[in-house]
Amino acid sequence: MSDATAKKEERRKFQAIKGTRDIRPPETALWNRVEQTAHEVFATFGYGEIRLPIFEPTELFARAVGGETDIVSKEMYSFPDRSLDAPAEILTVLELSTYLSGIHSAIEDGEIRRTEQNAKVIDRFLKEWEVFPAELKKQQGVVDISPLVPRLYTLLRAAQDVFDSVSLRPEATASVCRAYLEHGMQSLPQPVKLYYMGPMFRRERPQKGRYRQFYQIGAEVLGGTDAPAIDAEVIEMLMAFFDKLGLQGATLYINSIGHNADNCRRGYIEKLRTELAKIKDNLGPDSQRRIDTNPLRVLDSKLESEQPYIEKLPRIADHLCPDCAAHYAEVKRQLQVRGVLYQENWRLVRGLDYYMRTTFEITAPGLGSQNAVCGGGRYDGLVELLGGPPTKGIGFAIGEDRLILSLQECGKGQVQQGRDVYIAWMGEKAYAAAIHAAKDLRKAGFSVELPPLEQKFGKALGQADKLGAKYALILGDNEVSEGLWTLKTLSTGEQAKFPEPDLLEFLRQQKNVSS
Ligand code: AMP
Repeated sequence: MSDATAKKEERRKFQAIKGTRDIRPPETALWNRVEQTAHEVFATFGYGEIRLPIFEPTELFARAVGGETDIVSKEMYSFPDRSLDAPAEILTVLELSTYLSGIHSAIEDGEIRRTEQNAKVIDRFLKEWEVFPAELKKQQGVVDISPLVPRLYTLLRAAQDVFDSVSLRPEATASVCRAYLEHGMQSLPQPVKLYYMGPMFRRERPQKGRYRQFYQIGAEVLGGTDAPAIDAEVIEMLMAFFDKLGLQGATLYINSIGHNADNCRRGYIEKLRTELAKIKDNLGPDSQRRIDTNPLRVLDSKLESEQPYIEKLPRIADHLCPDCAAHYAEVKRQLQVRGVLYQENWRLVRGLDYYMRTTFEITAPGLGSQNAVCGGGRYDGLVELLGGPPTKGIGFAIGEDRLILSLQECGKGQVQQGRDVYIAWMGEKAYAAAIHAAKDLRKAGFSVELPPLEQKFGKALGQADKLGAKYALILGDNEVSEGLWTLKTLSTGEQAKFPEPDLLEFLRQQKNVSS
């Protein structure tokens, strides 16, 4: 292999990890527009932004998202918080004792948290530590460790489990609820309305609109009442956001999944299970499994052959308790009052117990099979599940990557690009004038390209074209000594001369006309 090829091979090794990508200019301008619009629209509804950690204890997600879900059981990026790994082989007393002392001080310093999961192992470790020979603790070498070895070995293995597992967040509702409790937000005026944006991580099979690092914009309303007006306003805000972005063809689907009681969802699930058992042989293996584990999830199935059977299954709307039925009817009425169009979709369910009543999803065109741009719902049991008091909650998460894709597909993806002014300069005096002109123009908010090296005017104008500049300001020594600057409009080729002070005014006026 030649040196050059070897170097090329070297370079090839570094690529973004599968399912992750670089979002580059000019597309980032669209991302910024979307995020800016979210800040503006959500603020008009009284929401405040919360910035959350990218990683949290694995346990938080296991608890909030559910240990049985695909997200937690298969898709999370989890790793131990600290790498005080047990040495592969304990060769000397010193190594053993250093390792164990390390664990001991980590416990003492509170670096190993006493979670439910950890408590047993920590207690066992401390008990063993008590009876540990003092010589070993002090790291003095010459002790016969052979009688201790089997016991220590188990201890080492157990101790390893102690280190907290942390995970890159697969979603942010759990973190928002954690933060609500951690900062005593229950004592603020209720409800507390928060929104967030940022990357989420799930180890899914990548495809169009599905990534392993993807971005969500989400909002949560916590505390206070569960009045249907809250549900309706959350959805109204979402639609106002999509509207402001110019997203076309978005469809809102809503449903109510009642609450977890025998006369409501639990009763329905039992009926569903009974009906599913009757048609079991016509279902695929996934759905067959779910009859036992989570029958509601069968309704999510996209498998063509199952559809005729699923369509005939009992519907939850016919099994809601009177309170949940009234709540749902009022949410629909309030959506109508707010002029929000919706379609009902009885198959829109969420497989976790703490979800209740309103669920919704928004699809958008141009996305292929991954056409959901937003999912949301009411989750009144979640804060309690995380150790807090009973707290009402509702929220949504928008898939920003998909929203961007759909905006691009419907022709709303363009963001003004290119420079306003390219300064073509030649000569020392002209350069000094160019630097000042650039400074003044930038201060006034124009985007300006000032080339670092002198170039012939022809070349400079070509460059200005390539960068998509609107105007070229032509500054030669003549212009500077005459005090008359030449401005060329690149789209028309028109040229005009201005005294320096008039130029800024002219550009300002043009900007106002076009915006
Ligand atoms: P969820 O948190 O699963 O309810 O998802 C909410 C929204 O996030 C979905 O409607 C999608 O738009 C988006 N989303 C979820 N997973 C991914 C992914 N792997 N890649 C891109 N977007 C995603």
